[in-house]
Amino acid sequence: MKNSGLVITSKWIYPVVGTPVLQGAIVIRNGRIEAVGTRDAILSAHRDLEHLDYGEAIVTPGLINLHSHLDYTALGPLDTSASLFDWIPSLMKSVSKWQPIDFFESALYGARLNALAGTTMIVDSSYSGQSAEAISHAGLKGVVGLELFGLDKNRFELPWKNWLERLAKLENEGSAELKNAIAEGRVVLTCSPHAPYTVCPPLFREAKKWAETRQLPLLSHLAESPEECGWLQGGSEIIDAYLIKVMPSIPERDTATLLKSIDWKKASHSPVAFLKEHELLSNRLVAAHSIHVNDEDVKLLKAAGVSIAHCPRSNARLRNGRAPFSSYLKAGVNAGLGTDGLPSTDSLDLVAEANFALNLHRAAEPESKLSAPDLLEAMTMGSARAIGMADKIGSLEAGKRADIAVFKIAPQAAEFVPEVAARFAEQFADPADTLIRFPTRVEAVFVDGESIVEGGRLRNMQTYARQ
Ligand SMILES: [Zn+2]
Repeated sequence: MKNSGLVITSKWIYPVVGTPVLQGAIVIRNGRIEAVGTRDAILSAHRDLEHLDYGEAIVTPGLINLHSHLDYTALGPLDTSASLFDWIPSLMKSVSKWQPIDFFESALYGARLNALAGTTMIVDSSYSGQSAEAISHAGLKGVVGLELFGLDKNRFELPWKNWLERLAKLENEGSAELKNAIAEGRVVLTCSPHAPYTVCPPLFREAKKWAETRQLPLLSHLAESPEECGWLQGGSEIIDAYLIKVMPSIPERDTATLLKSIDWKKASHSPVAFLKEHELLSNRLVAAHSIHVNDEDVKLLKAAGVSIAHCPRSNARLRNGRAPFSSYLKAGVNAGLGTDGLPSTDSLDLVAEANFALNLHRAAEPESKLSAPDLLEAMTMGSARAIGMADKIGSLEAGKRADIAVFKIAPQAAEFVPEVAARFAEQFADPADTLIRFPTRVEAVFVDGESIVEGGRLRNMQTYARQ
């Protein structure tokens, strides 16, 4: 298929950049999109190519999940009522005996759930690095940030050195599949300094410098909880207790002593102002959550070109609040959507995330103009811009990679839909609204023109030897 070419047709082609095409078609050749147009015109010009007709379906760019933790997918049933700082230690305790193979299996489960939800690119933060293995094994694309922690500003070189070693180990000792994916640019490894309350400014700066030199995105959590804001402004007993529980003890200076020596808290600090003061804002930064911000923070994020990974369901589940998503869009701050990890949300389904976002923000801000097309933009082009790949993915345009999702409009059975309902649907349905508000199911997914999901099922369910 990769070399011979393929024409996909369906009721709607939703290119995100450009106008939706009714009865549309896409030509795929050599892993790229060659043309997008109407069904009749494309089919008459390409009679020689294989033709897949998806009928009552909406074809979109492959979705981009801008924030996740695939490693923890198997912990989906973890306490669903905890708040953030009870939840993280219980998550860490649950995986304390896991081997790399356990992280891999858990991450592969997550990568496959993403594929089955129409996602082709996963932006993931991972301590083990196994999510990079899982993404390449599943045939998807990924930007994987190896997580970085370290609060001791006098000894930040050590965690940085350890991080560089972990990265080199993953690059050099990874599977052939991962090495190929990296060589072909399908998987990109980068750095993920965890959060302002777990990474000291000089260590965060090393990570920023490293990512900027390589023109890579830098993945972090920002302004996620009221406790984070309190801690940066002077102290939070909840965060201190959490850090003592989870940070590895440092020789000669245990974590409690270390916490007393931290001298970068300031009453005036919001998390964004803190990053600004330490010159840590950058157009490479993808800031997950970004809930607790004021008007000045929004301006700072816009001026620095920071992108936001909006995770409304995780934010709600962990009782962290609601990010001002409409204000970000209005201010011109680039934003995408992320599901976050399965232990802090209901599913790894980005369309469900968009549905929740639309209703949440309208309920909280009746004046909000947020629309279904805005959400579709966010989970395709918004996320592509965030990771510096807007020239390659995020829309259905000639020349871009053929990363494509096909959503079947449900219910399929025509006899089930009364005539009057069908007429109504025909008259009013906007494809973006249909996708986000009404039941659809993922029929097919292509990555670089290769079929990953067909007929709602994964093509590659190949297993691997458990050692
Ligand atoms: Zn996260």
